[in-house]
Amino acid sequence: MDLFKPLETKGEENKDKTGKTPSEHVKVLIIGSGPAGYTAAIYAARANLSPVLYEGIQPGGQLTTTTEVDNFPGYPEGVSGPAMMEDLKKQSERFGTDVRFGIATAADLSKQPYAVTIDDDKVITADALIIATGATAKYLGLESEEKFKGQGVSACATCDGFFYKGQDVAVVGGGDTACEEATYLAGICNKVYMIVRKPYLRASKAMQDRVMATKNIEVLFEHNTKEIIGDSNGVTGVKLAKTNGDEAQISITGFFVAIGHKPNSDIFKGFIDMDETGYILTQPGTSKTNVPGVFACGDVQDKHYRQAITAAGSGCMAALDAERYLGTRIF
Ligand code: NDP
Repeated sequence: MDLFKPLETKGEENKDKTGKTPSEHVKVLIIGSGPAGYTAAIYAARANLSPVLYEGIQPGGQLTTTTEVDNFPGYPEGVSGPAMMEDLKKQSERFGTDVRFGIATAADLSKQPYAVTIDDDKVITADALIIATGATAKYLGLESEEKFKGQGVSACATCDGFFYKGQDVAVVGGGDTACEEATYLAGICNKVYMIVRKPYLRASKAMQDRVMATKNIEVLFEHNTKEIIGDSNGVTGVKLAKTNGDEAQISITGFFVAIGHKPNSDIFKGFIDMDETGYILTQPGTSKTNVPGVFACGDVQDKHYRQAITAAGSGCMAALDAERYLGTRIF
């Protein structure tokens, strides 16, 4: 047994003379493994399209960072985020989806067949491409925030708000998402603090009015989060720094970060139409992008709803759109 074989030779047998893994052609390529990607895979596999799905940087997607999912229809007792994603993966594999580890690191959608590079190495070409790469919630970047993630720190009030029923919580941010999350939480929690760094909210007027009309929301303008504090049971409070230099502290058990999301669409820039923040634009009522045969579903094209169930629904649409597209083409 060659115990001292260097690790980097692993997989060398698959490489060609140039040191690269040879390219491979597939009918349907799905990038992303959240509810959108797996639902697209279930439908595409059942339509005999032999989909190949690459899981991406966070196998299972954003839901794997959530504890309990109570709002996905069909789970009367709720289900943990990771367990639900494992179920979706198994379901897609049951119909023959080829689920693989790997991150899409580049794309060339300038000509057909479309090419996607995996792990800076292998090029996969595809007759139809389904982009389900999701979005990543932005965090403040504090050490204490990282420490209490899943233990009081969350980026999704609809997912986790229920666990703070009757308690005091805080939402960071002053945009539409923060206002929406704060008003949602106000219906469940005892008190909601909004921590806003500017002297005003950025949200639409209607959302601002809703926040201001909600009795148990207190907006802390010109406050920044300095540190999230807690113990072995989770978050107990937040240390704040005011713009004028004063310091303050509030007692809370839930800390919701709502400072925006970043759609994971960078590698498709220049090929696919996007809005100014990188969300992929789809033709209304469909998953079609401006590039024929390239479809987008889930959070990478949805900044409004961002729910597992809406992502799954759009994944279904993408597979059906891809099936119809392939049915009308000769390759
Ligand atoms: P936005 O970018 O609009 O707002 C982000 C908020 O977070 C801003 O108040 C920003 O402050 C604050 N923020 C950013 N970084 C930090 C930081 N490091 N520390 C403290 N605060 C920070 O993001 P949203 O997710 O709210 O909205 C994204 C888009 O989606 C918008 O176009 C919005 O209108 C839309 N949307 C629409 C909804 C609807 O119509 N129902 C619902 C949700 C979103 P500052 O203002 O100082 O930059």
